[in-house]
Amino acid sequence: METYDAVVIGAGQAGLSASYHLKRRGLSHVVLDADDSPGGAWQHRWDSLTMHDVHGIAALPDSASPGTPEGRANTVVPAYFGDYERTHHLPVLRPVRVDRVTDEGELLVVHAGDRTWRTRTIVNATGTWTQPHLPYYPGIADFRGEQLHTVSYPGPEHFRDKRVVVVGGGASAVQLLGEVAPVAADTLWVTRREPVWRTDEFNPDRGRQAVALVEERVRRGLPPASVVSVTGLALREQEREAERLGAYERHPMFERIEPGGVRLPDGGLWPADVILWATGFRPAIAHLAPLHLRSEHGGIQLDRAGTTAVADPRVQLVGYGPSASTIGANRAGRSAARGVARWLEDVRSAAR
Ligand code: FAD
Repeated sequence: METYDAVVIGAGQAGLSASYHLKRRGLSHVVLDADDSPGGAWQHRWDSLTMHDVHGIAALPDSASPGTPEGRANTVVPAYFGDYERTHHLPVLRPVRVDRVTDEGELLVVHAGDRTWRTRTIVNATGTWTQPHLPYYPGIADFRGEQLHTVSYPGPEHFRDKRVVVVGGGASAVQLLGEVAPVAADTLWVTRREPVWRTDEFNPDRGRQAVALVEERVRRGLPPASVVSVTGLALREQEREAERLGAYERHPMFERIEPGGVRLPDGGLWPADVILWATGFRPAIAHLAPLHLRSEHGGIQLDRAGTTAVADPRVQLVGYGPSASTIGANRAGRSAARGVARWLEDVRSAAR
């Protein structure tokens, strides 16, 4: 059986960037991707998310960004990724869902059902989309209405004439309220903390500060916070109608969920048909558990370069923590290929 220099797990922006840079360095590798077709998590985004709604898709290395053509993000970005894989002859295998990576002494073994790949290093690029986060609230199991997470948002029509609670203080909550409020009977927006609104145009310095904050967290081995969530919220033209309807009046979190609605801190019951949880995602890294990478603080500690796991330098993490954005994922891919090359060189030097 062939032994690879690297196995890349996941073919979203981060995995494709890593594969491009590994190939440029002449490092043997394969990319294993759980989806049936190219596009990473973008192919699963809701239908009403257009290219004008997203913050921007950074160009993959050595290619032009898709820009903001008319069209849905869940078709434009997958087509861009598919072209990229073909143009650069990237060795992507799909569908292959990795369930475990084990440490077999000098090598790592990547398992997917009864198939295995032997490798000297791995680059993990599995994103967060498969790990929607649903916080626990008392009474959650007793709610008689419907509960949905962003991951399965069915579009605004589904909410017509319903009373909808939207939970979460990030950009997704703001976007979904913008779509749901004009058709719903009523909406209630609840967040744990006061939302942070941007008062000026997006400022790149603020973006860099946000990334630096998350970098600091992963350097200390803490669970990463979302980079896209710390850049501040802004309303766009398509959200003005919801704003006019008062949808962005934020309320503190409810105390508990009851069969017919949510119980607010002031004691009142807000009757609800649907609770829409826009409560984010967590890194999809359960398959790395056998490698025991987690620090005592609950996250995977990365080195100063930002992609190498301190607990095992054979493991690179891309699209994780500070690199969980399209631009961050691009850079992380290059850094991961460098980290792989460095490890292989160290092993060779030690053997001389
Ligand atoms: P993904 O695109 O999630 O790709 C992960 C890949 O790994 C998938 O193909 C999946 O099939 C595969 N995979 C997962 N588990 C396994 C497994 N066990 N085995 C094999 N394969 C596996 N960023 C921006 O820069 N601009 C934006 O406008 C923007 N908008 C966003 C909107 C939403 C709603 C969300 C949730 C995120 C947004 N982001 C945005 C963040 C951005 O999408 C990602 O950070 C970026 O695309 C990097 O993705 P990725 O490659 O890490 O992961």
